Amino acid sequence: MDHPYGWIASDLQALHRAGWYRSTRLSHGSGSAQIELEGRRVLQFASNDYLGLSKDSRLVSAAIDALRIHGAGATGSRLLSGEREPHRQLEKRLATWKGCEDCLVFSSGYLANLGVIPALVGSRDLVLADEYNHSSLKSGTQLSGAQSLTYPHGDMAQLEEELVRHRGAHRRCLICTDTVFSMDGDLAPLPRLIEVAERFRCMVLVDEAHATGVLGPTGAGALEHFGLAPSLVQMGTLSKALGSLGGYVCGSAELIDYLRNRARSWVYTTGLSPADTAAALTAVDIVRSEPELRTRLWQNIARLQAGFTERQLTLLPTNSAVLCIRVGDVERTRRFADALREAGVYAPAIRPPTVPTSRIRFSVMATHTPEMIDRLLAAIDCVL
Ligand SMILES: *Cc1c(COP(=O)(O)O)cnc(C)c1O
Repeated sequence: MDHPYGWIASDLQALHRAGWYRSTRLSHGSGSAQIELEGRRVLQFASNDYLGLSKDSRLVSAAIDALRIHGAGATGSRLLSGEREPHRQLEKRLATWKGCEDCLVFSSGYLANLGVIPALVGSRDLVLADEYNHSSLKSGTQLSGAQSLTYPHGDMAQLEEELVRHRGAHRRCLICTDTVFSMDGDLAPLPRLIEVAERFRCMVLVDEAHATGVLGPTGAGALEHFGLAPSLVQMGTLSKALGSLGGYVCGSAELIDYLRNRARSWVYTTGLSPADTAAALTAVDIVRSEPELRTRLWQNIARLQAGFTERQLTLLPTNSAVLCIRVGDVERTRRFADALREAGVYAPAIRPPTVPTSRIRFSVMATHTPEMIDRLLAAIDCVL
């Protein structure tokens, strides 16, 4: 008889054969843009720390102060023993920034989506999702038991067609979309999507993970970028441009009140750690009061884009700090990323099954200098 765990080894072999096997890489560094990766000094172009805040001394100090005052852990769920002063401060600050009545912070963005979707829809309901949505939106939808339909990336005509065909057979309907798509960097057509949602009486959940801190006049995200202020469910993460850890959901006071009672990944888990909460609170204040961070980020994005264009590289459509170039099939893309690393630049090869087509994905940061962007472009020339 087979060993009961024997299938794990065969599955791992299958991953290796398909070129889908992945492993971690250890990095460290005191700054955000220049790191040591497995003993080699490289420029960091793989981080979600778009504004370089994770290493900002003000975040670090806020976290240390919170540790001293509140301890390392929240010690219980928010509803029992885990509520600390920084939690509600952060929630109020996020709500104001996002133009919402209230907010709830989760232990991660992933957990926010796992909690909020099953709280909003169930087996009698319908979820419509962009095919490129983040894994956490897909997992949340599966957990909800709702019927799930995906529409082709950004295709609002197809979304509308699905609604014409299926909306009538369901009680509630939720449209879920990333605002900035995490593996491509492009933007969802939000004005049109919201108009369609209103027409078909659908709820909308937008995931602002890669837009928060990056888009909009105050960095509040893609809704602010488009000048939209509809009543919908806005979620995002504290772990990307905000440099900390955790997730949030913003919306009406009623929605948040409801989620505090119905979002299982919030009710039945320990409150966000005081240090992470305090760091995120400081980050929100910095993002709102220092627009020059965003200015520097967008200057870097423009410089890199111009460099790609000059080299006639195939740049995927983008409206964010995520820039992807196509350099060939899975194997070629992997070799390209390896060669870049040897030339002193860390940018990952993103491959199936994460995305349908392989690409090199560059994350630009405000803490890159123009000279670092030029060094990246020189490394690309060298690899080409
Ligand atoms: C990163 C990400 C998440 C998850 O956020 P975490 O806080 O890292 O768990 C959710 N949605 C999108 C679109 C993301 O890119």
